[in-house]
Amino acid sequence: MSAVIISGKAISDEIRNGIAEEVRLLYEARRRDPAFVPPGLAVIQVGADPASSIYVNNKKKACEQVGFMSFGYSLEEDTTMEELLDLIDTLNRDPRVHGILCQLPLPKHLDEFAVICAITPEKDVDGFHPVNKGLLSIGRECLVSCTPLGCLALLKSLQIPIAGKQCVVVGRSNIVGKPVAQLMLGENATVTMAHSRTTDLPAVCKNADILIAAIGKPGFITADYVKPGAIVIDVGINRCEDNKIRGDVDFASVVEVASAVTPVPGGVGPMTITMLLKNTLTAYKKITEGS
Ligand code: NAD
Repeated sequence: MSAVIISGKAISDEIRNGIAEEVRLLYEARRRDPAFVPPGLAVIQVGADPASSIYVNNKKKACEQVGFMSFGYSLEEDTTMEELLDLIDTLNRDPRVHGILCQLPLPKHLDEFAVICAITPEKDVDGFHPVNKGLLSIGRECLVSCTPLGCLALLKSLQIPIAGKQCVVVGRSNIVGKPVAQLMLGENATVTMAHSRTTDLPAVCKNADILIAAIGKPGFITADYVKPGAIVIDVGINRCEDNKIRGDVDFASVVEVASAVTPVPGGVGPMTITMLLKNTLTAYKKITEGS
């Protein structure tokens, strides 16, 4: 068997085109309204980590492509907590800004959790605020982290029922593993969370109809972990010694056993920024409809 390769790039393009069209219609409908403000995303970067700069630029570019306003803040490496919290406070109150994102990781002297908590939950388009995390865990409407949302959108694109399926998530991080497991639970899958202390991981994974790998170890999930016909979502982005990006899934062997698999690159990766745009539009609608 050779699996269907789920193109995150194609699905992402389709969703972005939909968002761009929605924004275009918004401009058209409101062009004579002096009070009109388009959706806006503020992106804060502290320091000049080259990988973060690439992510930040990609996010700004994606915003502009769909007609959002983007507000970039490049702060010095030695920015104090007080200065960063002041900026977040200003953005929380800025009516042109509907989404606020602070690129992680932050320099060591800054308290990441305090920064996440300072962003108002209504503008927390990364879905990292404890209020949004809590709402997700009790199954209420909220802003959900972008990568988990992207995984779900890829699964839904297959138009295969998720309810009742055995789903195994490998990895229990707060930004991927836990929220993706909660989303799958929300879809009525039977969810198992596996992690570094799980015993007999291959047997646990082999039970999965849907296997989601968010581990951070290149090629870790081989065909031995995959039930024939399973759907495999590879969240991993690992830069290897040869400078190539590889996923957590050993694509060459898994593609022979699975019924569908996401490639890396071109799978979950492109969906993450797309879901950021979707979250910004969701926050915009909620804020502007509420005002
Ligand atoms: P993390 O390091 O915070 O968590 C890794 C998880 O994997 C942990 O919960 C750990 O228990 C588990 N794990 C580690 N070794 C294991 C083992 N031997 N067996 C079973 N479980 C094991 O990582 P993260 O932030 O969740 O990211 C995971 C991967 O996803 C990374 O490659 C990261 O780069 C990638 N990622 C991709 C995107 C995207 O946009 N596609 C976004 C975020 C993270």
